[in-house]
Formats: sequence, C-alpha cells, structure tokens
Amino acid sequence: MTKVRIIEILKRDDFGSNVLVNGWVRTRRDTGSFSFLEINDGSCLANLQIIADEKLDNYEQEIKKISAGCSIVVSGEIQASPAKGQAIELVARSVKVIGWADPETYPLQKKRHSFEFLRNISHLRPRTNALGAVSRVRSRLNFAIHQFFEKEGFVQVHTPIITTSDCEGAGEMFQVQSTQQTAATQEAGEHFFGKQAGLTVSGQLQAEVYAQALGQVYAFGPTFRAENSNTSRHLAEFWMLEPEMAFCDLDCNMLLAEQMLKYLLSDVIENCQEDMNLFNAFIEKGLLDKLENVISSRFEHITYTEAIERLLSSGRKFEFPIKWGIDLQSEHERYLTEEVFKLPLVVTDYPAAIKPFYMRVSDDGTTVAAMDILVPGIGEIIGGSQREERYDILVSRMEQAGIDLEEYDWYLDLRRYGSVPHSGFGLGFERLVQFVTGMANIREVIPFPRTPGYAPC
Ligand code: ATP
Ligand code: MN
Repeated sequence: MTKVRIIEILKRDDFGSNVLVNGWVRTRRDTGSFSFLEINDGSCLANLQIIADEKLDNYEQEIKKISAGCSIVVSGEIQASPAKGQAIELVARSVKVIGWADPETYPLQKKRHSFEFLRNISHLRPRTNALGAVSRVRSRLNFAIHQFFEKEGFVQVHTPIITTSDCEGAGEMFQVQSTQQTAATQEAGEHFFGKQAGLTVSGQLQAEVYAQALGQVYAFGPTFRAENSNTSRHLAEFWMLEPEMAFCDLDCNMLLAEQMLKYLLSDVIENCQEDMNLFNAFIEKGLLDKLENVISSRFEHITYTEAIERLLSSGRKFEFPIKWGIDLQSEHERYLTEEVFKLPLVVTDYPAAIKPFYMRVSDDGTTVAAMDILVPGIGEIIGGSQREERYDILVSRMEQAGIDLEEYDWYLDLRRYGSVPHSGFGLGFERLVQFVTGMANIREVIPFPRTPGYAPC
C-alpha cells in the first residue's frame, strides 16, 4: 500500500479505498467501543481523524496507551466523516506505534502554550499549529522569491558568508578565526585568511561585482550582525535578500521592490490558504485584509525631509526627538506607516551623513539616493539605494568615512572599468515573514533564532 500524506488524503473522495499514513498524535479520545486519534504529519495544518475500533488486536495493550506526541503508522479505509468540520476520516485496519512519548514529561499538551514558553523548547515547537504554519509559509515565501527572480531574468549569486570587507562600517561584525590561532599569533598579524575576517553583514558589495557582469543578480542567504539590541525585529543571524541591478536608477529599484512584495504576498495568499486563515483568525485579526490592501494599493512615497516635517507637525511626543539629520527610529517609522499612511511607505533621499559610503550623492550634495520601505507593524522591511557609480565622488565619500582605499581597490575597479548607474536593496526575510504571518516577535519566524545570550540548538 502506498504511503499518502495527510494533505493529499483530505482532498480525496474515493471512499472505501485503503491508504497508509504516518504522523504524530495530537490527541486521543475514547468513546465506548472505539478511540479517536487526531494525527498530524506536518504536510498541512489540519489533522486527520483516525477511528480505532476495540476489535483491533493491540487495542487494549497499545492503542489505549497512545498519548500526545507518539508517532504511529496507520493503514485504513478512507471514509466520509459524519462529524462537523471535517470531510474525511480514516477507519483503521491497523495502528502501529513507532515511538512512544511519555505523557508525564512531554511538554506539548493540548492547551495553548505561549510563544515565550515554546522558545524554551525550540526543538519541539515546530510540532505546534502556529509554528508549523510559520514553517510552511516561510518555505513557500523562499520558493516564491526564487520564482519571482527567475521570471524576471535574474541570476542568483552565492555571495560569501566569510568576508574581509565590512560593508556597513564599524561595530556589528562577528570575527572569524581558526581555533589554531592564539591571541598572540593574531596580534602578530597572522590571520587564517591573511587578514581579519568576519561573518558577512551584507552581500551587497559582492553582488555589485556580479551585477556589473550579469546585469541583474540577487543574493539570498544568512547574514550576521552582532547588534546588542534585544528587539522584536532584530536577530544576530538572519536571512537577507539582496537584488542588484545594473543600468537601473532609484525609481527602477523602488518599482522592483514594490512589484516583488506584491507578487510574494499574492503567492502566499493563494498557496498557503489554510495557514494564512489560522494567522488571520488567531495571530493578527484583519491580516488578510491588510495584505490584500497592500497588493491593490500603490505604495506611498515621501522624502526623508517630508517625513521629518510630518513628524514635527504631528504633535506627538517621541522618545527620540525629531530634527533634520537624525536617523529615523522604529517609533517614527511606525507612526508614519501605521497612523499617517496606513500602507507601505517608501521614504527616499536620506541625509548622506547617516547613510553608508556607497549610496549615490544627489545634486543637492547633502542627501543620497536611498530608499527604505516601511510597513505597518514592523517599520523598515527593505533598505536600498542607487549606488555611487562616479569614481571621484565615491573615493571622496570613502575617505570621509575613513575607509582604507587599498582594501576596496577591487570595488573601485568596478568604477574604473565600464561603470554604470546601478541600484539594489536588502530585504530582511524574517521581517517579511513577520509581516505576512502577523507574528509579533521575529524569534518566532526563524527556526533557530540567535540573539544576545540565546542560541540553544
Ligand atoms: P534597522 O534600522 O531596522 O536595524 P538596518 O537599517 O540596520 O535595519 P539594513 O542594513 O538596511 O538594516 O539591512 C537591510 C534589511 O535587513 C533591513 O531593512 C531589515 O529588513 C533587515 N535587517 C537588518 N538588520 C536586521 C536584524 N538584525 N535582524 C533581522 N533583520 C534585519
Ligand atoms: Mn536600513
């Protein structure tokens, strides 16, 4: 008999045929002469109901001892279910227990657990409805990203995880060294890679290399930041999607970002209906309306200077005071996108002084061609810019920032030989998953979160 996953079984109507299914038991309930077993195999949110009759030969010895968490294999007959809320059930011919789960110690009992509690058992939490649903939606979004860029004619580039160039500047990097290197040999300048190396904070500079050859590329992989901030939107290890396009200015960049976000939201609404309904009902009321609204609206655009004016005239007391030149804080971003516009908001033309050296300086000399996309509930989800393609201006920006030009000679070569206007952005993948699922804390949307003081398994 062929093994069938629950997601397939639930679609069938060939009542009377036999299938083999395996999964983990969620609940067992006994009534008179038989037991109901609810099992889940991870293929979908819904459980399959198994009817196990007392006439089964291991009924007393085994089936009546089955508890939440046990793994079982069932062979049985597909039948229409008389019960409300489900179309199909399986009448068991045999139920075999593969692995027991001691009910005295198994932590996932039927009641709802808090996400904080589940974080302490991150090796068991994917067995819950919400975290299982997040895993499937995350996987689908990952797939849809590759589909989108394939469709648009992009080439994926695997940028390095170990780098010797610190893209964003000081402070946030993790160092990489071999266990053979003692502090003394490091002091003497003996580094495994010949110089100080670290985990990447962004693949952008390397993506630029490939954009200058292949035209349109994207990098998508793990990114590391040693930021000591315990917020609901920061991780020490997260995934970043970084498209980079040659012959593309800031408008072209913003258009791609908007089209991509809309594509991804539509894809997930269409292909993860059951999971999305769960989030809509239990995690964020109105989530589906919010996403549909994003898909059907044009994103709002304002400049940084306009944003500052809006904030100043809001009459709002912010923790971080507003004045031209500050970096927008989460509270400012969220006020604008949640209360003023109630839509994704693209903020452009930030002061050059608060943005990295590679962003293109505008004609006014004080701002750069940057764009951040802010969304309700989260704040910044995308940060991007048109890159500085003019050699002289780039060099003077690097000098101002105190960057060693020799270290970046390869990057400057891109401006010496066939330089072109180009742009790109970075999307925090977990922030996207948060936006799509409504999960309040970023620790719930990555399988194994890493934050200061926390990396259990
Ligand atoms: P923020 O101001 O929110 O800390 P940032 O401006 O430092 O973000 P960028 O360097 O612009 O971030 O990175 C691009 C994108 O990567 C951000 O828009 C965000 O979605 C995501 N991102 C940045 N840092 C983190 C982090 N520590 N954890 C998860 N996602 C992050
Ligand atoms: Mn940013």
